Amino acid sequence: MKSYKVAIVGAGPAGYFAAQALQNLATNEFAFSIDMIERLPTPWGLVRSGVAPDHPKIKSVSKVFEKIANTPEFRLFANVELGSDITIDQLRERYDAVVIATGSPKGKNLGIPGEELPGSLSAATFVPWYNAHPDFKDEKFDLSSQTAVVIGAGNVAMDVARMLALEPSELDPTDTADHAIDALKESAIREVVISARRGAEHAAFTSPELRELPKLEHTNVVIEPEDISAAIVRAGDEIEKDTKSNLDAMTVIAEREPTSHERTMRFQFMATPIEIKGDGKVEEVLFRRTGGDETFSIKCGLVITAIGYESPSLEGIPFAHGKVVNDEGHVDGNLYVVGWAKRGPSGVIGTNKSDAADVMKLLVSHLDSPKDSGDLTEIITHEKVVTQLHWEQINAAEIAAGEPLGKPRKKAVSREELLNLGAL
Ligand SMILES: Cc1cc2nc3c(=O)[nH]c(=O)nc-3n(C[C@H](O)[C@H](O)[C@H](O)COP(=O)(O)OP(=O)(O)OC[C@H]3O[C@@H](n4cnc5c(N)ncnc54)[C@H](O)[C@@H]3O)c2cc1C
Repeated sequence: MKSYKVAIVGAGPAGYFAAQALQNLATNEFAFSIDMIERLPTPWGLVRSGVAPDHPKIKSVSKVFEKIANTPEFRLFANVELGSDITIDQLRERYDAVVIATGSPKGKNLGIPGEELPGSLSAATFVPWYNAHPDFKDEKFDLSSQTAVVIGAGNVAMDVARMLALEPSELDPTDTADHAIDALKESAIREVVISARRGAEHAAFTSPELRELPKLEHTNVVIEPEDISAAIVRAGDEIEKDTKSNLDAMTVIAEREPTSHERTMRFQFMATPIEIKGDGKVEEVLFRRTGGDETFSIKCGLVITAIGYESPSLEGIPFAHGKVVNDEGHVDGNLYVVGWAKRGPSGVIGTNKSDAADVMKLLVSHLDSPKDSGDLTEIITHEKVVTQLHWEQINAAEIAAGEPLGKPRKKAVSREELLNLGAL
């Protein structure tokens, strides 16, 4: 029986689904031992630090991840970073194959004047802040103005807008970071404008998320009926199924009677942001009507852009256009890539499963004789490696701390706190 060693870098959905695919591909003739490396003291990637805390059902996929991890040939090495604790060459020398699954954590910029003003930020900063990502715990946002603008027409923009527009006590029974719940309870924001450059027929929202919006108990959700009727005309008879389903969901919202709630989330279409203005901080966003000359502005104190993500480069790995350069997931030699680092920031959690399975089939087809050249344990020099057992302790402690508060978990926020929970 041949046994191959595979290192997977990044413990998000793509990393776990790659591990699962290898477990499924093992036969009586060959098996895999998998070492998963994660820079944070906690695994699960964006399932922990991206997915909105008011959508807890989506996070139940973590049960699948834990099943994958609880197999004899799987080891977790969390709190270990590729690039600072270990290098790609060290991994490539020791493992039969190395799989990059590091995601796309960097927010894309609009590239317009004023974007650098305080009060203008990316969803890539705001989302991990409210989700208790240790690297963002000290971020501070000015939530003292009446209006916030969220630029983008995808589910991340919708998550951000919803988090700003919902009644913050609705977050009490969720795993939102305590610092975020406290700040949102103090927030003066009462109107959130979610602004799309193109028409509603091009929006990348998905219809289940749109259909959830009217269920918000304390927020008025507004879509102008004319925006949707114009979109339906532009989409024409050959309309795609997903677009139709989105427009149907938006029609339901547009046709609702306005409510008297204090908080409003308003959709704006066909608006291209051209400048963010303000004296030392954001005071307004200037837009041009897309496809025309008319300009208009919205006074606001906070602008959050959610227009996509990219991967920062890692030494020794070829990157272009915010992704790892690859051919169907193969980079070169024994190096592979899966998930958002491979495809860019598109697709839901499940998309990473079929994608990783295809790449792992390719990987297996390239395997030769197994290497006998050591593993990670001889490279890592610090003693604070979070293994699966440590992580299980952290996980259990967070869940136990949440229980009396009616939360699925109370997240520890700093690295020190997390390591303490794991008795490290
Ligand atoms: C805000 C937001 C909300 C979302 N909501 C949903 C939703 O509701 N439903 C849904 O289906 N999908 C949702 N998605 C999409 C889903 O999260 C992605 O499809 C999925 O997480 C991508 O998986 P990944 O493993 O490629 O990347 P990630 O989940 O980002 O995982 C990458 C992992 O690699 C680690 N890493 C990075 N660099 C290094 C390094 N140098 N060394 C070691 N480790 C490293 C990171 O810490 C991270 O844990 C959402 C995405 C975002 C951004």
